[in-house]
Amino acid sequence: MGKPTGFKEYPRQTIPYRDPLQRIQDFEEFQLVVPEEHLRTQGARCMDCGVPFCQSQYGCPIDNLIPEWNDLVYRGHWKEAFHRLMKTNNFPEFTGRVCPAPCEGACVLGIIEPAVTIKNIECAIIDRAYEEGWLYPQPPKHRTGKKVAIIGSGPAGLAAADQLNKAGHFVTVYERADRVGGLLMYGIPNMKLDKKLVQRRVDLMHKEGVKFITEVHVGVDLEAEQLLRQYDAVLLATGATRPRDLPIPGRNLRGIHFAMEFLTANTKSLLDSGLQNGRYISAKDKDVIVIGGGDTGTDCIATSIRHGCRSLVNFELLPKPPAERAPDNPWPQWPRIFRVDYGHAEAQAVFGHDPRQYCVLSKEFLDDGQGNVAGIRTVRVEWTRGQDGRFQMKELPGTEQVFKAQLVLLAMGFLGPEDTLAEAFGLERDPRSNFKAEYGKFQTNVPGVFAAGDCRRGQSLVVWAINEGRLAAREIDRFLMGSTSLP
Ligand SMILES: Cc1cc2nc3c(=O)[nH]c(=O)nc-3n(C[C@H](O)[C@H](O)[C@H](O)COP(=O)(O)OP(=O)(O)OC[C@H]3O[C@@H](n4cnc5c(N)ncnc54)[C@H](O)[C@@H]3O)c2cc1C
Ligand code: SF4
Repeated sequence: MGKPTGFKEYPRQTIPYRDPLQRIQDFEEFQLVVPEEHLRTQGARCMDCGVPFCQSQYGCPIDNLIPEWNDLVYRGHWKEAFHRLMKTNNFPEFTGRVCPAPCEGACVLGIIEPAVTIKNIECAIIDRAYEEGWLYPQPPKHRTGKKVAIIGSGPAGLAAADQLNKAGHFVTVYERADRVGGLLMYGIPNMKLDKKLVQRRVDLMHKEGVKFITEVHVGVDLEAEQLLRQYDAVLLATGATRPRDLPIPGRNLRGIHFAMEFLTANTKSLLDSGLQNGRYISAKDKDVIVIGGGDTGTDCIATSIRHGCRSLVNFELLPKPPAERAPDNPWPQWPRIFRVDYGHAEAQAVFGHDPRQYCVLSKEFLDDGQGNVAGIRTVRVEWTRGQDGRFQMKELPGTEQVFKAQLVLLAMGFLGPEDTLAEAFGLERDPRSNFKAEYGKFQTNVPGVFAAGDCRRGQSLVVWAINEGRLAAREIDRFLMGSTSLP
């Protein structure tokens, strides 16, 4: 419960980031380390609200025992806090860095005061646990003899692998990329989540008995039937990897890329050679336009700035969100408000203004005469509510504009999993083309084949992928053993 009067005595203070102009010189993490006292004081703000909404359906998707570890941190009982944290979260070092923290949106203190800095405290607990050596390989004492294949090594696949290995099954994770981690490795950039931390966790799991096989594209290099013969159960955790395109005139011009082509190549080159091998799409000295917001758009902005782009604009189709919660978005819902993320702050520091332009519709990519993109012709739009209550978009006459660009990055979201595995396994899909498997059961139409994470629920968050990986592991354990004691 923290200190009963803590929330009255101490203001909210998040862990500061490195200075924007300094941090854009490298790809190191932007978050600073703070003294223990800072964290204990912030833990003291948790106010024993009685019904902790931070743990409710509106808050943390993995039901982290937040008030308990806030209290333990406030009292300096870090090891106990660590044990509480590990009861519900396989990878707090990832969520503590990248989670948007829906728990904080639902914090009861947030009704009248800024919420408790839950995410920062979570991160500090696990970082300390690694420092103190409280995490070490703990292979299961007994093996069941059952074999499980997991396809995809993102947070859903890794969480399921960790749980199933703990239950004593032999787990093999197949990954088509050359490194394990899914979007934790090749998606979220290094400055937000250091890849050494992803590898550290993978190494720990490997020492506990999980087998990782990289550079195998299941359904292409390895047949689905072979997996079904070799394993007692299969989990599909392949993510939502089909990007939404922008099929307007000029789309085939050189210099227009999906965000993931840009981000993946950058991280791979960074890890392989410190960006010395040149095998990435460079934004250096270019006018860059990022189309689409969200985490992906922000990561493209921040990466382009680190390359040394000449200018940067970020198009958003929707209007600017309000500064405060709108009446139809009350507590404890996730607040849909205007936020300045790390990449926006960096653009502000470098170019003197926020890079986002709202209500912009791209009409045509312009050619430089040699097949390269030279800019985008746009029009402004207006959003109004129609008679059916739905928002409708209208183009505003006379608002045509041309934006210069030699590099355009498409960050407009993802449409679901690729077709390869659905065809290879004969899977049913839901109306949004995701692998069809009911939440809570995770069983597809093919006996013994389960699905979890973004390939099942659509594009989402790391914390939801962990939730689905954990719950799918429980169902797989039940399928294999007839009952389960996994949480
Ligand atoms: C750029 C970007 C930034 C993001 N930032 C955040 C953030 O800050 N916070 C947050 O909470 N969420 C963020 N997200 C969302 C989050 O990363 C995803 O929701 C999460 O990673 C989904 O986990 P997953 O395990 O379902 O799939 P993924 O992480 O997508 O992993 C799927 C893996 O399966 C592999 N695979 C696919 N098909 C095959 C096959 N046939 N054979 C073998 N391997 C295969 C892929 O190579 C991939 O490695 C971000 C997403 C993107 C794209
Ligand atoms: S995982 Fe996310 S929602 Fe849950 S406690 Fe951590 S920051 Fe909050």
